[in-house]
Amino acid sequence: MKKLTFLFALLAVLLSACHQKETEIEELVYHYDFQNFELWTLIDKHSTMSADLFPDVDNEILRTVMPSGEADASINAFLIHKNDKYVLFDAGMGTEARGRMLGELIGLQIAPEDIDVICLTHCHRDHIGGLMAHDTAVFPKAEVWLSAPELEAFREDELFSKILDAYGTRIHTFMFGDTIADFVETFDASGHTPGHTVYKVDDLYIIGDLIHAAALQIPHPEYCAVYDKDPEKAVETRKHFYEILENADYRAAGMHLPGSGVMHAFGIQY
Ligand SMILES: [Zn+2]
Repeated sequence: MKKLTFLFALLAVLLSACHQKETEIEELVYHYDFQNFELWTLIDKHSTMSADLFPDVDNEILRTVMPSGEADASINAFLIHKNDKYVLFDAGMGTEARGRMLGELIGLQIAPEDIDVICLTHCHRDHIGGLMAHDTAVFPKAEVWLSAPELEAFREDELFSKILDAYGTRIHTFMFGDTIADFVETFDASGHTPGHTVYKVDDLYIIGDLIHAAALQIPHPEYCAVYDKDPEKAVETRKHFYEILENADYRAAGMHLPGSGVMHAFGIQY
């Protein structure tokens, strides 16, 4: 059963990459033309998640789901165009860390000043590094949103405090349940970090770091990568959103999901 679920989930990733009118613009950018908005996956970097990140998982399970000792993953940002607004979800690692997101955006003829809103799922470096280049704000006009608890948790963080200085009054916080830019809903997904957020635009959930190694954590939501700050809460959160995402009406875009980064019909069973 678990194996079938795993295969189904992988199939869903592959299908999502060639679903409907989706077009692979280039190797690292995927475009989705949904009913009321456009979505781009901007792959900042292809990467893998090592089995070592899951020290609590039984070796036999790891051998089954990650026979090579690694799971396919990526560092993704997502861009949505809706109601004449460009909304970016996370910003990758940044050009100084060889992140490709900014170059991909420019390749789409979208300039940094065209980005109206940036929604941060959380404040780890692989999600916020791309907001800065050489201590300067990359996005000169964007209003940047994150949850109030996330801002409090990262206020003293070296990189995040530079971002606070550089973006100044363009940094805004929300409480879970608030709506941003009239169409981005916010949900409490804490556990990975204290203010980790899942966003929703129409039928698309942007799930941040709910999943690090899809091959392991889709069939086994009970396991955390060492990156999850509060593992018990992270498991509870993951199971909660999996239940929602089982519904075939919804899609999920994940910052570390492999392939196109977008999944349809999770098919979770646990
Ligand atoms: Zn991450």
